Amino acid sequence: MAELKLDDIVSLCKRRGFIYQGSDIYGGLAGTWDYGPLGVQLKRNIMQLWWKMFVDSRDDMYGVDAAILMNQKVWQASGHVDTFTDPLVECSNCHGRFRADKLEDANKCPTCGKTGTFGEARAFNMMFKTNVGPVEDENSISYLRPETAQGIFTNFKNVVDSLYPDVPFGIAQQGKAFRNEISPRDFVFRSREFEQMEIEYFIHPDSWEAEFDKWVTQCKEWFAALGLPADKIHELDVPAEDRAHYSKRTIDFEFDYPIGREEMMGLAYRTDFDLGNIQRVSGKNMEYRPKDGSTPFVPHVIEPSFGVERAVMAVLCSAYWNDTANERIVLKLPYELAPIKVAVCPLAKNNPELVTKARAVYASLKREIGSVVWIDSGNIGKNYRKMDEIGVPYVVTVDFDTLEGDTKDTVTVRSRDTTTQTRSKIINLIALLSCA
Ligand SMILES: [Zn+2]
Repeated sequence: MAELKLDDIVSLCKRRGFIYQGSDIYGGLAGTWDYGPLGVQLKRNIMQLWWKMFVDSRDDMYGVDAAILMNQKVWQASGHVDTFTDPLVECSNCHGRFRADKLEDANKCPTCGKTGTFGEARAFNMMFKTNVGPVEDENSISYLRPETAQGIFTNFKNVVDSLYPDVPFGIAQQGKAFRNEISPRDFVFRSREFEQMEIEYFIHPDSWEAEFDKWVTQCKEWFAALGLPADKIHELDVPAEDRAHYSKRTIDFEFDYPIGREEMMGLAYRTDFDLGNIQRVSGKNMEYRPKDGSTPFVPHVIEPSFGVERAVMAVLCSAYWNDTANERIVLKLPYELAPIKVAVCPLAKNNPELVTKARAVYASLKREIGSVVWIDSGNIGKNYRKMDEIGVPYVVTVDFDTLEGDTKDTVTVRSRDTTTQTRSKIINLIALLSCA
């Protein structure tokens, strides 16, 4: 297979209704993306699978959904107001602005081509600033959150007070985050508005190494559930000089995207940095009191931080298959992630008996499986290819054999990945298709 290009993914996403440029009709807004009918379903399926795996199926996890707008003290205490910056340079000739550490040539302007036109880099804060309420002054400043993690830390005490879980336990959150990237790029990989799935796992400091190792394993289980090939995932043990100063260990899980090997998610041991900051700035005690009466302590934290869009991109790149033998593009999505699970198709749309039968099959599958579509346009081969390209695992065809003879009340089930067709009784369909 020819090497996968980012453009293959971008064009399929637009063509088939997965992802569009944000505000496209007005010329777009850089760094924003809109999810179309299939994209929103794919993204939700990924997020739901995550929630099921890391929250619902465990007894040591608690979910929260914090407000995006938070008291500015949150971002002062976390260090974001002072240090959440990228180095920005401006060209004195064309006034283009660039991220200094991402320039191909540090002295040459990529827009006008002049050299030596950059002044000293200045720190550019990436938080979107706004004012809450009708008065614009220092006290009303707030920010669109640049990460979901702080919404978890600020609710640590609430969760402990209401539910008093045993340590270790985790708090999970999914939601939007915003960063005013100087140069958003590479499709949804680096955008200004994105979604995160984060966990803060609160532990006793003595156990951090064992808990960290468990999380490495759990992250790998997640990648497998997404259908990502293990040989495309790489663990980068971030060296001390590149880690945040409070982190004693960080592993970046990188993925071989068409744009190169890039970070898909991060796993960090953040010590008690965040709860310690909250304790200092809020004046509230963040100590956890063990139920056995042993010494209270401020829990330390292991943080697995997942970017939704980066997962979406890795899933799409892994699923994309140019099946040249059958002249088709296929998204080999895992069944659980596929936006549409089944398509139902009457072989002839002008035969009322056939259509009525097919409608009944469609209605019963729709009721049980949900994401089922009806297709009756074009020829059957074209329908198959169209469904392959959006990753529909099965197409059920109701034909003349469905109506009479030994084959009465049977249909053909065509598999996306193998293109094989099998005949199945209608009454067996739900069991066959929903537990694939
Ligand atoms: Zn320039």
